Amino acid sequence: MKKNIKEYIDDSVFNFIKKVTQFVNPILLKLNNENGNLLVYYFHGIYENEAQKKLNHVDPQNNLTKTQLIAFIDYFLSNNYQFIKPEQISEGLPKDKKYILLTFDDGYFNNTLAIDILNKYKIPATFFLTTKNIVKQESFWWDVIFKYRIKNHVPLKKIREEQSFLKGFKYSFIDNYISENFGSSATKPWSDIDRPLTVEELRTISQNSLVTIGNHTHNHTILTVYDREEIKDQFHRSNEILCDITGYKPKFIAFPNGNFNFEILEECKEEGFNITFSTIEKSNRLPIKFNSAVMNLNRLMTQTNDINVYGNYDRLGYTAQSLYLKLKHSIKIFK
Ligand SMILES: [Zn+2]
Repeated sequence: MKKNIKEYIDDSVFNFIKKVTQFVNPILLKLNNENGNLLVYYFHGIYENEAQKKLNHVDPQNNLTKTQLIAFIDYFLSNNYQFIKPEQISEGLPKDKKYILLTFDDGYFNNTLAIDILNKYKIPATFFLTTKNIVKQESFWWDVIFKYRIKNHVPLKKIREEQSFLKGFKYSFIDNYISENFGSSATKPWSDIDRPLTVEELRTISQNSLVTIGNHTHNHTILTVYDREEIKDQFHRSNEILCDITGYKPKFIAFPNGNFNFEILEECKEEGFNITFSTIEKSNRLPIKFNSAVMNLNRLMTQTNDINVYGNYDRLGYTAQSLYLKLKHSIKIFK
């Protein structure tokens, strides 16, 4: 398919930023004092190997293989980053060190592959769970769209458009859309790659002292689409289920799709969340300041390219993608 002129300019600008940052980042890293830096990363699924990825049972979403996850951990260990739990942020982190916090969103069973690695390295991580999928043993709606459309040779661009379109609606609309378009049993998982954790599996991993369990709402609701009562209900339902399974009420939440606003932060405080996790692609500088009485942390998405290249971007607090979006945003303002 031929690119239009706008897509061509977009790609060229992005590639230019990528090239410049690849050259400049190592120099800046030498000059930059990283102490007082807190990097928070979010992962979705983990693959056993590249062959699993090729099965297209889940939307890849920058999912890493086990080997890539090990390389990721090695990279930050060798750069003297300290892996921490969110509880340590509430207690206050000394500013003379650099920190990293790993988070896994949604509640995929395949995250247990990561737990074996965390155990080996004795590294903590936080898992944000969508409780409806766990309780009902349903795969996630974006994966349903991805795997069925890919199977029918729909171009990736079209799949992304369909997924983005649905993100503007409430879960009841999305649920209907999925069953109307893919059949009533479409959310039945295809394998261990796309299935969520079971209640029993979640109970087991929650007992691991390296694991912190956090809220990711009950229905993976994009909170900005809902009113305050519905938001309260989503937080509360999910917290009750998680408390039943794990024995404790989560103190942390990751916003599905990263969407939040002032009212949502206020509601988080009411529910007892003291740290919230967004998807603003930046690092965090210590001390973390309060925003509407909660600490709202920026998170970087993992990349599948070579850690020794992209790790440099992230340690400086930006990615080529985040710089590109910033530039696009500034151009819009000045237009
Ligand atoms: Zn999510």
